[in-house]
Amino acid sequence: MLTLDFHPTGRHFLQIPGPSPVPDRILRAMSLPTIDHRGPEFGALGLQVLKGIREIFKTQHPVVIYPASGTGAWEAALANTLSPGDHVLMYETGHFATLWSKMAARLGISAEFLAWQGQDEHLPNAPSWRRGVQADLIEERLRKDPEHRIKAVCVVHNETSTGVTSDIAAVRRAIDAAKHPALLMVDTISGLASADYRHDEWGVDVTVSGSQKGLMLPPGISFNALSPKALEASKSAKLPRSFFAWDEIVEMNHNGYWPYTPSTNLLYGLVEAMEMLQSEGLDQVFARHQRWAAGVRAAVNAWGLPIQCADPALYSPVLTGVILPAGVDADALRQLIYQRFDLSLGAGLGKLKGRMFRIGHLGDSNDLTLMATLSGCEMGMKLAGIALKSSGVQAAMDYFAGHPAGSALKAAA
Ligand SMILES: *Cc1c(COP(=O)(O)O)cnc(C)c1O
Repeated sequence: MLTLDFHPTGRHFLQIPGPSPVPDRILRAMSLPTIDHRGPEFGALGLQVLKGIREIFKTQHPVVIYPASGTGAWEAALANTLSPGDHVLMYETGHFATLWSKMAARLGISAEFLAWQGQDEHLPNAPSWRRGVQADLIEERLRKDPEHRIKAVCVVHNETSTGVTSDIAAVRRAIDAAKHPALLMVDTISGLASADYRHDEWGVDVTVSGSQKGLMLPPGISFNALSPKALEASKSAKLPRSFFAWDEIVEMNHNGYWPYTPSTNLLYGLVEAMEMLQSEGLDQVFARHQRWAAGVRAAVNAWGLPIQCADPALYSPVLTGVILPAGVDADALRQLIYQRFDLSLGAGLGKLKGRMFRIGHLGDSNDLTLMATLSGCEMGMKLAGIALKSSGVQAAMDYFAGHPAGSALKAAA
């Protein structure tokens, strides 16, 4: 028996930007018996899942599903399309972009890391970690590559370590303007099903995502959405791959099966998640996240603390990064809040360790979940002796009360 004796009464507040809380409906769907993954019932499930997931990515092309965390799907994107020694252009938006570039290096790819070089008063050691991908820098670099040595441009859509989204359509336009044939690969592990995303319309060749963020599933499955150009590139790419190889998976997926045992119960959960998202409507889902993000920012502004995203056009709908005054240990604050109020907040990652914390506002949440979260933050910061300008809790209450959501309940009333 698993002992969680320390677990207090009531629901734990899992307000990290993934894994996000799993709705009871999804947990129940996952409790169905595991079936024969070579039997007839499974084929029907597989076909249903593979059709539905294309609608979530907004693509007409194959989406490959792996029994792996998001990191596996990152590796799959690179290993299926590139050859040893290939040169790729990556962009430093934050910790996850950094990890992806380190992975490329480990796989034997030469990764060039572009970054914004301006000054930033709050994060002088990581100025580009407050901003999105600068598509003009990518265009400029591609124009200096007339021999087309650069095989791919890799960017993160929703940088989970910072709370900054990037304009993927602008990156596509930059590649086209430079008349460059590089593949466009995008990580939207934490953006899918929370932030607007359009694989086909934005001309993305490989989109990487995972289960435990906007899709509201437990961790354990991840995705590669493909383009015909990516599939073509995979035929001549020479990096070794076997478990992650697209060819066998795409082939067997035609009949709803996989070459090896897929995560049957997570696929039950995925069917349920897609049903929830589609019955609400994806546009409504995106609007709900935008509204929560605005309410949380109202609180952070009232506290008088800087929001990590320095570009209001790029505020993440999924999470908000809060920079603490110099000298305050953000990890000690998070620990205090966890111990006193049973609330988990995201840590500052990489260059930002101890400097900031992240509030996740995604998935199976509501106004009062977020009010409780902000209360935990405010109480914790007061206990830690941090000087706050005014009450963020009051500001968020005013925001949520003053901006009613377009909810189903309201329509029924
Ligand atoms: C969570 C996340 C990852 C890593 O995914 P894992 O499932 O932990 O392997 C990569 N990139 C981004 C943007 C993420 O949010």
